[in-house]
Amino acid sequence: MTERESPPITNRRTFLKAAAALAAALPLLKAKEVKGSTSSGEGGVRYSILYDSAACIGCNACHVACKTRRGFPIRGMVERELSPVNWVFVSRAPSGGQLQTPPFVRHSCMHCGDAMCQLVCPVEAIRKWNGLVYIDQSRCIGCAYCVEACPYGVPRKNEGPSWGDWAPHGVSRKCDGCYAFVQEGKIPACVEVCPADALRFGTRDEMVAEAQRRVSENPNLWIYGLNEFGGLGVIYIFPKGFDPVREGVFPEPSEGYRPSVSRGPIALGLAAVGGLALMGAVKAKARGEGGE
Ligand code: SF4
Ligand code: SF4
Ligand code: SF4
Repeated sequence: MTERESPPITNRRTFLKAAAALAAALPLLKAKEVKGSTSSGEGGVRYSILYDSAACIGCNACHVACKTRRGFPIRGMVERELSPVNWVFVSRAPSGGQLQTPPFVRHSCMHCGDAMCQLVCPVEAIRKWNGLVYIDQSRCIGCAYCVEACPYGVPRKNEGPSWGDWAPHGVSRKCDGCYAFVQEGKIPACVEVCPADALRFGTRDEMVAEAQRRVSENPNLWIYGLNEFGGLGVIYIFPKGFDPVREGVFPEPSEGYRPSVSRGPIALGLAAVGGLALMGAVKAKARGEGGE
């Protein structure tokens, strides 16, 4: 599996678990859609990270800084696969499209406006603080529905031993935008350490404006992330000639919550099961069962 692919639905049991999660999430989804797709969650501001691929030198200091802040193991080589103890890395895209040299790409949580991980979580363990999507590990039951639902293939369940406070056994983990550190007045470790000004942190409006400023100064650049999945909380700048969707690095964009668009036939199946469940719930309500 390449790093760009959504995690596979590996067997029938997993499929049914994910289908059940989606079915459970549909009533929540209806409520969340009403609130708006780019909600910031708790707080009111929406924070974001800017990643400028054209400025990035691929040093992976961000990868090391993230691990250092959490006390995760730092191995000799950069780990080019997300894991419960590896929440960010940078690698060259496998192909460059119209470019001779493939650009660097940051791989981590996108802090989506429409966070599908959050929508499918049956115990509301995935939450947003000022737009930063985090997993409340005290609530997480390790069902891994978020692992299945994320279009970017980001969360990973820790099936191994606990690793410090930030990666207990049996729960799903991913970049949380360093929200707890931001609450203390710090900035994300990855941004703090970047030597090339390829990363910035601030409100989403500020990050979009900064991206637009950089693009206006260099017409060979363009912006990714403005609208995908409710607008991403990581705004990317890429060189023109490279399209991460066309090159298969990132998934097809969807408009709002449309798993059938981003998850293909599997999602169609999930949507069908979820739809059946929803129909069943509607019928039960019509029969006067279940109450509110
Ligand atoms: S620290 Fe900055 S320059 Fe180095 S890989 Fe990360 S984003 Fe790129
Ligand atoms: S990238 Fe995946 S894990 Fe991150 S907020 Fe979006 S859906 Fe959730
Ligand atoms: S925001 Fe924090 S947790 Fe996320 S990649 Fe950067 S350093 Fe790691």
